[in-house]
Amino acid sequence: MSAILSGVWEKEAEAGGRATKIPVTVAYGDGIGPEIMRATLRVLEAAGAPLEYSEIEMGEAVYKRGLTAGIPDSAWESIERTRVLLKAPITTPQGGGYKSLNVTLRKTLGLYANVRPAVSYAPFVRTYHPQMDVVIVRENEEDLYAGIEHQQTDEVMQCLKLVSRPGCERVIRYAFEYARQNKRRKVTCMTKDNIMKMTDGLFHKVFDEIGAEYPEIEQNHLIIDIGAARMADSPEIFDVVVTMNLYGDILSDIAAQVTGSVGIAPSANIGNRAAMFEAIHGSAPQIAGQGIANPSGLLLSAVMMLVHLGQNQLAERIHNAWLCAIEEGVHTADLFTEGMSRAKVGTEEFASTVIERLGQKPQRLKSVRYENVGAFAELAKENTAIKSSKRATKTLVGVDVFVHWKDGCANDLADGLKRIESAELPLTMITNRGVKVWPQGHAETYCTDHWRCRFHANSTMATKRILDLLERLDASGIGFIKLENLYLFDGEPGYSLGQGQ
Ligand code: NAD
Repeated sequence: MSAILSGVWEKEAEAGGRATKIPVTVAYGDGIGPEIMRATLRVLEAAGAPLEYSEIEMGEAVYKRGLTAGIPDSAWESIERTRVLLKAPITTPQGGGYKSLNVTLRKTLGLYANVRPAVSYAPFVRTYHPQMDVVIVRENEEDLYAGIEHQQTDEVMQCLKLVSRPGCERVIRYAFEYARQNKRRKVTCMTKDNIMKMTDGLFHKVFDEIGAEYPEIEQNHLIIDIGAARMADSPEIFDVVVTMNLYGDILSDIAAQVTGSVGIAPSANIGNRAAMFEAIHGSAPQIAGQGIANPSGLLLSAVMMLVHLGQNQLAERIHNAWLCAIEEGVHTADLFTEGMSRAKVGTEEFASTVIERLGQKPQRLKSVRYENVGAFAELAKENTAIKSSKRATKTLVGVDVFVHWKDGCANDLADGLKRIESAELPLTMITNRGVKVWPQGHAETYCTDHWRCRFHANSTMATKRILDLLERLDASGIGFIKLENLYLFDGEPGYSLGQGQ
């Protein structure tokens, strides 16, 4: 019994004899969403899945009613009750202050691990990489997807990248537990910690720490750029990949496309108390309403959902029927290849083909077995025991003051700031977009109207010194737009140097 089910369904079962159906929330989504959801539910129905659907509305229509989150309260009530959501893709309107509903769902429900398998089905689906069988575990709540953005000057926008130790621990442990349970041999971590030494560096460090608890699993780290290049060129070298939110988003689309189509890749978004299953692709508005979309990504997501719900035999039955359809060359337009495919079918016809093959096993593709696979949430349950970070001794040693300034070059700004610095809190550096431009800047460096001015004390200091500095700064007419205090944590700097410092 999964952690999810230990909620509502189990209680109902205890109260009134066994509940016959498992409650699941369903969202039909936008664009091709309703078509592929109808096809998917038809297959589930035909296979005899004991599910009771609670339908909710979310996405474009809700946004258009003025709800910028794209989801009404009634939908939250349903998800909180069932704790399992099968979701079709939705369209996020561009601009206009609308927030991504996917990001909201993942973060609100604490769905910290996004499990995205990418498997080749050669020779039946055209791919240059017939041996590919990769699972990408994407961190799902943090990173640049915190969505905290500000315009700070006329010329500069900022997006905050937030990475926490518990966030890293949860998803990395999940990836190792997943690898162990599914008898995977290797876990690869990908970050850009040669540049982002603190944020990406933390993810890499936690990977090494947690990896040490799984000595039987081979493990390595790649910088994301070469990692993504290898995923496109030689995906056979990967097994399980764990990576940060943005990198995982991009990498999993590359991986899916390399297997033949983004239309066939499923995903499971897993948290300790809820789970959401969806195809990785979007709402494909260009082909919506034509009945030609591939329902496979959503159908295989529903298969992952059945495993999660402990319905392993059903999951196996549907997945194997799907493999039969694929190896028989019955393909939707995105997979259809002249000479390789046998029939080009629409969404509904494809679903019917899968239904007709329920109970069959593929002859040439490897059939799947879910016999010993536990619920995704069981792995999540392991994660409740997060090592709490020890409290470091935190010492204030300075401040980075960001200013909006357009009245001259770096030396002019330094002259102005020198007039208001104090002996205890002197100006030590100015950078522009991270590059040191004072002291000893280079005339070639292009400067925008956004400057980071570092005031660094020689020893521990009181916050009052910063407040005094800000008052003098304000009175000088230079003004400030934001601050970052500079701390030592157990004597180690908790801030990066300027480029070229
Ligand atoms: P997309 O995934 O919708 O489409 C990319 C390409 O893949 C298109 O050529 C499309 O026709 C094709 N494609 C996608 N799914 C297919 C399927 N099932 N069968 C056949 N072909 C398929 O990506 P996009 O065009 O960048 O995004 C469209 C909209 O979807 C945007 O509003 C975006 O915000 C949204 N989106 C939603 C989700 C989600 O709800 N999880 C994810 C990604 C994008």
